[in-house]
Order: sequence, then structure tokens, then C-alpha cells
Amino acid sequence: MQGDAGPQLRAWVEYFRDLGVHDFYRHGEVAPALATEAGSDLSIQSAVMVDAAPNRGGVIAAAAEGAASFAEYAAPALHLAADSPAPQLMKLISFNHLAPLPAERIPPAERAAALRAIQDEIGDCTRCPLAYAGRHKIVFGDGSPMARLMFVGEGPGADEDAQGLPFVGKAGQLLNNMIAAMGLARAEVYIANIVKCRPPGNRVPEPVEANTCSQFLLRQIDVVQPEAIVALGSTAAIYLLGVRRSLSALRGYWHTCRGAKLAVTYHPAFLLRDPRQKAEAWKDLQMVMAELGLTPPARK
Ligand code: URA
Repeated sequence: MQGDAGPQLRAWVEYFRDLGVHDFYRHGEVAPALATEAGSDLSIQSAVMVDAAPNRGGVIAAAAEGAASFAEYAAPALHLAADSPAPQLMKLISFNHLAPLPAERIPPAERAAALRAIQDEIGDCTRCPLAYAGRHKIVFGDGSPMARLMFVGEGPGADEDAQGLPFVGKAGQLLNNMIAAMGLARAEVYIANIVKCRPPGNRVPEPVEANTCSQFLLRQIDVVQPEAIVALGSTAAIYLLGVRRSLSALRGYWHTCRGAKLAVTYHPAFLLRDPRQKAEAWKDLQMVMAELGLTPPARK
């Protein structure tokens, strides 16, 4: 890719991603051509096609939870030659279905230690390719181990990678403002991401990265036991809920995740790019506030 075409294309992809559009297909290309692009600087297709299990006869295995809903998330047509091996769609499994809820819940006094134990287990992680993609710090999570409310983003950016803390850059400042507008202090909530290491160039985490890291986020949620979780943006929503739907289809409803109620809203980075959507995000946060009995701070 020449000149500034790469960054421009990436910006468009991010833009569509925030609109909830994730799948991109080339007209007239057959599957092998997709495969040869895996090492390119923008491997969009690998975000939707994983799992090496053979899949013959042009049948695409809808391995996601609720395979009956395959048509809902696979709506864009796949342009495949009739005799070419079909690519596989990403296997999506909700956090609810990844593991049963622990029979014994960790009492509040033991939650900080339990989180430290998970962090120790992660160690200097090399479980996925992000370990070798220029990561400086693993961004484990931040906030109260007894938080009633948890926010889950996508993955660390440059500032987070440098500091080892989630949401400390520009998007983090906006998230701090959103939390304050809900009448909470940042230290009262818990904040984490789908992946704990920065994807190079802030690209969307690949399924293998998200799926590898998910086990730890799942355990963090089980330790903190928040009453409510807010999924920030579509990557968080897709992996937590195990569904591939647009943000607009997921917003405005309560979902469930690990015994918590889960709401979906726009990612703060998207709100920085399109501030007109802040009013919509505020509606989502007000739904959460009503559930938790929170009131906005009095105006000074
Ligand atoms: N964006 C995210 O999704 N997470 C962060 O921690 C920072 C920016």
C-alpha cells in the first residue's frame, strides 16, 4: 500500500467499526487471495475468519452461540468461487458460556488479593502474538475490586501501553468525565479491556488475541462481581456477549454477563470523533444510573 493510503484506509475501517460494521469483503476475489493477505498491514479478513477446521462444500459453519442466528451476523455476502474452500467465521462464545459461574463467590475482603493472583498468573505474558508486537506494559485493569460498575474497552492504546493503566489517554479523559457525570469517582469503578496488550497501530484485536486474553478478563469479572458492566464499543460488546450485531441493535437494552447486567454504549474514542453521539451515550449511562440508583452530582 502506497503513501498515506494505509492510514486512510485504517481510519475508514475504524470509522465503520464504530458504526458497527465489521466485515469487509472484496468483490470478485476468491478465498485463497484472502489467505495470502494475512501478513499485510491491514488483515481485516482475519478478524472474521479463524479456526482451521476444514469446512467443505461451500457451507460456512455458524459456530457462534445460537447458530440459528447465523444470518443475523453473516449478512454480507461472501464472494467465493463454488469450488474454493470456504473460510470459517469467527467462533463467538459469550462470556456467559465460556465457563460456569464459580460456585463460591469471593467475599469483598478477598477480592484485591484475588485480582493480584490473576495478575501474577498473567506474569510477563507471551500467550498471544501481541506479546511480540511492540508491547511495553501489560494493562491488567484498574479500579475498585469491589466496584458495583465495570467498564470494558477494547485494548490499550499508546498512553495505556506506556503507563500500564487502562483509559489514561484522551479517550480515558472522556471516560473519566462520563464516570463523573454518573456521580461516581473513577476509583469507585473497575476498568479493563478485552485485550491487555496494545495491538500495533491500535488495530482491532485479532480473534486469537481476544480469545486468549478473555479467560483473564472473565476471571476479573468473576472476582469483582459488578452489578453492572458497560461495554464500550463494538469489540467489547461482541466478545462479552458473543454476538455480532451492530451497536445500534445492542444499545438501549439490558444484556447479561457473568451475573451482571450489561449495557452497551459508544466507545469514548468514537465519541471524540463524533461528539454529536454524546447525547446518545448519555442515554445509555442514564439507564445504568437508574439501575444502580445513582444520581448525577449537583451542578455548582
Ligand atoms: N481504548 C480502549 O479501548 N482501552 C483503553 O484502555 C484505551 C483506549
